Amino acid sequence: MKKTIERFIRRARRVIVISHVAPDGDAIGSLLGLGRALRWLGKEYTLACADPVPKGFAYLPGSETIVQPPPSGWPKGKYDLVISLDCGDLKRLGTAYDESLAGLPIINIDHHVTNTHFGTVNWVDTEAASTAEMVLELVESLGIPLDADMALCLLHGIVTDTRGFRTPNTGPRTMRAALKLMEAGAKLAEITDRVFNRRPLSAICLWAKALNGVQLDGRIIWSQITRAMRRECAFSENGDAGLVSFLATADEADVAIVFAEKSDGRIEVGMRAVPGIDVSAVALDLGGGGHPQAAGCTLDGSLDEVREKVLAAVKGAMKGRIH
Ligand code: 5GP
Ligand code: MN
Repeated sequence: MKKTIERFIRRARRVIVISHVAPDGDAIGSLLGLGRALRWLGKEYTLACADPVPKGFAYLPGSETIVQPPPSGWPKGKYDLVISLDCGDLKRLGTAYDESLAGLPIINIDHHVTNTHFGTVNWVDTEAASTAEMVLELVESLGIPLDADMALCLLHGIVTDTRGFRTPNTGPRTMRAALKLMEAGAKLAEITDRVFNRRPLSAICLWAKALNGVQLDGRIIWSQITRAMRRECAFSENGDAGLVSFLATADEADVAIVFAEKSDGRIEVGMRAVPGIDVSAVALDLGGGGHPQAAGCTLDGSLDEVREKVLAAVKGAMKGRIH
C-alpha cells in the first residue's frame, strides 16, 4: 500500500493535501508533517482545510500556510493529485474537496473504522492511534529525513489523538513513533503543555455554563452547548472545547455526549464510550463516524430533536453491550 502511495507521490507535480472539517490536532499535525515532506521532495503543494486552524494549534510551524478554499473553488487544472488525511468519508472534506478536483486520483490515508474507502488508493489502518503516525511511516518509507519542525507537527498529532497517550489504542507502535519524533527534536513537554495545560478563559466560561446543565440518563452523561452560551462567553470557535472527554471521566457513566450548536445552527454531537460499547457504529448510522470509543456526527434539527434521536440510538447500542 505504502509503495503504491509512494509511486503516486513521486509521479505527482502539484498536490493538494486536504484534511477534515473542524480540524483536530491530528488533522493539522498530519497536514503540516506531510507538507514538509512534499516540500523536501520538491513538489508544488497546497495544504487545505474547509475550516480555519484552531487558535490553539497556531504555534505549529507552517500553520499559517494552511488555506481554506476560495469562494469560487480551486483553480481548475491546477492539481494532479489529491491526498486526504484523517478523514473517514469524502463529505467530511467539506468545501475543500470541490468539483475542480473530481476526476483526480485520491490517496486516502486514515485510521477511522468508519472509513468508506472513497479513494483511488486507500490506506486505512484502524490499528494506528493517529493519522500522524501513519504519515511518519510514509515519510520514512520515502526516505525523507525528519527535521525538528516536521517531528513537532507529527508528535502534536499523536499526542492530541491519544489524549496524551491515554487512549486504549495507544500501543508500542505509537510509543515507538513518539520516540523517533522526540529523537528528531520534537519537544513532548511543549506539546502537552500547549494542548492540555492551556485554554482561553472563554472555554472555561463555556464549560461552566454547560456543566451547569449536565444530566445523567441511566449510564449516559450528557450536556449541551448553545449558540447563546458561545456568545455570552465570547467563545468564537465551534466545537465543545474538550468538554466531552471531561464528562467521560464520570464514574457513574459509560457514555458521554455533548450536543453543541454550531454557528450555522447544525448540531455537532461528540460521543465517548468505555470499551465494550461502540459509539462509532451509532455515529455511522447517523451519518457521522469515528472510533469505537470516540465518535461524532453533525445533524440538522433543534437541540431537543437531535438529543432525543441520539439518546435513543445510544441506548439501543448499549443494550447490545458485551460485558
Ligand atoms: P470529537 O468528539 O473529538 O470531535 O471527535 C471524536 C471522533 O469522532 C473523531 O475521530 C472524529 O473524526 C469523529 N467525528 C466527530 N464528529 C464527526 C462528524 O460530524 N462526522 C464524522 N464522520 N466523524 C466525526
Ligand atoms: Mn485522527
